[in-house]
Amino acid sequence: MAYEPEKLCWCRPRRKAPRWISWSRHNPDRRYYACVDAMQGGCGYVEWHDDPLPKFLSDLIGDLRDEVRRLRGEISVALFEDHSAAVALPEAQRGREVLDLEEKLKEKNAELDALKGKYQNVVYLFLVFVVGLVTAKMLLQ
Ligand SMILES: [Zn+2]
Repeated sequence: MAYEPEKLCWCRPRRKAPRWISWSRHNPDRRYYACVDAMQGGCGYVEWHDDPLPKFLSDLIGDLRDEVRRLRGEISVALFEDHSAAVALPEAQRGREVLDLEEKLKEKNAELDALKGKYQNVVYLFLVFVVGLVTAKMLLQ
């Protein structure tokens, strides 16, 4: 709200409109004024502060925004695993999806470990067989 000159919205009485930063796909990082009650509908007043960026830059910033959100999602998963879920996580839903995937990954890893175990048993038995064969040959000579 600390900006000059002040922009007034269409409410009666007119109120100073806060300046927001858009993070939409088409206007990332572009500042605008909107009614203080815009989140609950408000009076519908919206006015851009910044000129639109060239499409190349807005796409680039949009991609960076997506990447930051993706990384935050991964961090929130790390926090869940730390059992510090007390921290408010805006992307908790996404974190849960990743957790589900990790759960599936753990199951697959367990299956893989089981297979490895079986395979190691086969290798072990084969080695015992070879050692037995060599020992038998040596004894028979
Ligand atoms: Zn208003």
